[in-house]
Amino acid sequence: MSQINRILVTGGAGFLGSHLCERLVAEGHDVICLDNFFTSQKTNVVHLLGKPNFELIRHDVTLPIFLEVDQIYHLACPAAPGHYQYNPIKTIKTSVMGSINMLGMAKRCGAKILLASTSEIYGDPEVHPQPESYRGNVNPIGPRACYDEGKRAAETLFMDYYRMNKVNIRIVRIFNTYGPRMHPYDGRVVSNFIRQAITGKDITIFGDGDQTRAFCYRDDLVEGIKRMMNCSNDFIGPVNIGNPGEFTIRELAELVIELTGVSSKLVTKPLPADDPTRRRPDITLAKAKLDWQPKVPLRDGLAKTIEWFKSIDLSHYRPPTPNYV
Ligand code: NAD
Ligand code: UDP
Repeated sequence: MSQINRILVTGGAGFLGSHLCERLVAEGHDVICLDNFFTSQKTNVVHLLGKPNFELIRHDVTLPIFLEVDQIYHLACPAAPGHYQYNPIKTIKTSVMGSINMLGMAKRCGAKILLASTSEIYGDPEVHPQPESYRGNVNPIGPRACYDEGKRAAETLFMDYYRMNKVNIRIVRIFNTYGPRMHPYDGRVVSNFIRQAITGKDITIFGDGDQTRAFCYRDDLVEGIKRMMNCSNDFIGPVNIGNPGEFTIRELAELVIELTGVSSKLVTKPLPADDPTRRRPDITLAKAKLDWQPKVPLRDGLAKTIEWFKSIDLSHYRPPTPNYV
């Protein structure tokens, strides 16, 4: 490795954050994982706790904190609809105040800072697939707005700190990502379908199941955001990171049934408000600027995820912390 960095990962105990911490620790960096454990738990990073180059801080990003680091991966934010709608006011505070606090730290330390933004900033898209130049179709007053508008505001803050204060920023728009360590009760489609299948429950399809998503395996995603952090300073993004393979939700359900070998029934439930009808990243920019594209096909990634779900004790996972205020 060329250089050892002091790296802060906010939301570092979460699904993506814990995998990122693992990769950075293995590379020899000094890693600080900061998390308030709203949607995660220490078990996600317990295997890193004894390492001399890993440190865990319980902290809420809406409050200031003073650390000295070279790089910040800013991931702290609930990401699943059921989690971010649990306390919508706290969700938007986390995006906005959390970003201000972390950008302030980046400015003070001269650190490079990457925002984990989202495909949700495109809302229910009228342009398909979605390139970074598309400005989106978000309902600012709907139940998803606390997350979508929070992340849009975070992108604005990142750009303004870049233009006004010359903070060295990166913006990544992450599309639906799945894999081991997803919270089994987060209500996201992949975790729901796998948990339902392996516990002999019916599989719940919201709406007619013709809506689409494009699913990226966790390892591909983490490789993409690492490349973005370390790319040349003349490319700050935003850049889409996701897998362009597009599937209907019904196709996903059928694949989960095939791979788990169960005979679960598909049952339909009402479609949640403002649920995007289709979504698929245009990754032309990531390919050109980062030489990145996903490698893991959905079938292979799902098989690994199913294996992990079968290996965990579901009773050890709890719903979001009730005092998330
Ligand atoms: P996650 O819920 O597993 O991780 C989020 C982490 O942030 C959790 O550990 C949670 O406890 C922590 N957190 C929440 N509020 C906090 C606060 N106020 N202070 C400190 N920590 C806080 O979700 P994830 O899928 O790992 O998502 C990580 C990031 O990637 C999020 O910013 C999310 O918006 C973004 N993202 C994820 C996806 C995806 O499909 N997984 C898609 C788009 C964007
Ligand atoms: N979905 C579903 N059944 C479930 C959970 C989700 O049909 O048990 C649908 C949901 O309505 C949406 C898609 O799957 O159309 C993806 O939902 P998820 O919550 O994973 O992510 P997002 O909507 O944020 O992309």
